[in-house]
Amino acid sequence: MNWKIPLASLEIGEAEREAVEHVLRSGWLSMGETTQKFERAFADFVGVRQAFAVANGTAALHLAVAALGLGPGDFVAVPALTFVASVSAVLYTGAEPLFVEVVGSNDLTLSPENLERRLTPRTRAVLVVHYGGYVCDMGAILAIARRHGLAVIEDAAHAPGAARDGRRAGAFGDVGCFSLFANKNLSTGEGGVVVTDRDDLAERIRLMRSHGMTTSTWDRWQGHAWSYDVVELGFNYRLDEMRAALGLVQLERVEAGNRRRAECAARYRELLAEVRGVTVPFSRYEGTSAHHLFPVLLRDSFTRAHVMEALARDGIQTSIHYPPVHLFQYYRKRFPHFAGTLPVTEDLAGRELTLPLYPSLGERNVETVVAALARALADRG
Ligand SMILES: *Cc1c(COP(=O)(O)O)cnc(C)c1O
Repeated sequence: MNWKIPLASLEIGEAEREAVEHVLRSGWLSMGETTQKFERAFADFVGVRQAFAVANGTAALHLAVAALGLGPGDFVAVPALTFVASVSAVLYTGAEPLFVEVVGSNDLTLSPENLERRLTPRTRAVLVVHYGGYVCDMGAILAIARRHGLAVIEDAAHAPGAARDGRRAGAFGDVGCFSLFANKNLSTGEGGVVVTDRDDLAERIRLMRSHGMTTSTWDRWQGHAWSYDVVELGFNYRLDEMRAALGLVQLERVEAGNRRRAECAARYRELLAEVRGVTVPFSRYEGTSAHHLFPVLLRDSFTRAHVMEALARDGIQTSIHYPPVHLFQYYRKRFPHFAGTLPVTEDLAGRELTLPLYPSLGERNVETVVAALARALADRG
């Protein structure tokens, strides 16, 4: 498809090309000095002590769950309204998901009230998702976590730069996870970052990222070490220098990009207030969103299907965030007991529509999308 207005669009410029070329000329391509620089800059950006660059956001989540020592017999509370990776990362360790509802039509993040109601004695952690770039009600979630001794993992894949109550996404919980995938606000193609203020977790994450080895190839190349021991079961979840170089440049762009996304989102809200049959979640949101997504809610799934087709005919790409995880075939078979237990999630997921949003979208395109949406709704009556 050659979309006139795609769902997302990257900003890659001369600075990125130069940064990657510099690495290519340096003679060292795997995790090294540039990665360390990126990690330092990323930790400062989030406002935490430690950051570890990894292969992708899913690896970041897996390392977070694994470093917390979760495994068979443990349950991790997680919203069903998320990308499947939030849940598969839990399953990789042998732990199981405890699906929790989101708040409702004005807030698509995890419901603290529903979380507390569903907790069991075997629930050891909660994995929250800052849906669309909107930080969850972390005050309430951290209070519940303290009361019940839960570890807190943040899936901040949508939320680099998002903030609430004076803190940035990723800096609230025990560990925060970011994705640098091709359509995220800060992108290196593939990539991820794990952040934490806890030294014990940082040490395990550092080891598990690279086979549980006590020294890296980079250390040995520099002559800092001759050999190594293996002290954990680890993985190869390293990032490379080309992507770290891209990440450093993208990190400088992300705040300006988020501001331009915010301007488009504000214009969407203004225009959509006049369109019948559409509601826009997060209307009373109290934080600073990273505006990764612009979700709207329509009357029902039939209207949504009609609208998506009509917009596609106009060259406008839209999407759905998300088909709920517990309804996927694999999850239905493995965890049939969640059937019918998430009515709020199923209702919202059935009528959510994501409109295009990216820094260079611009006011004219926002107007074009809203006009096309209004036309599509009008001819459905
Ligand atoms: C993109 C995304 C991930 C996974 O990140 P990858 O880098 O694609 O592995 C996890 N959770 C959410 C909410 C995401 O949007």
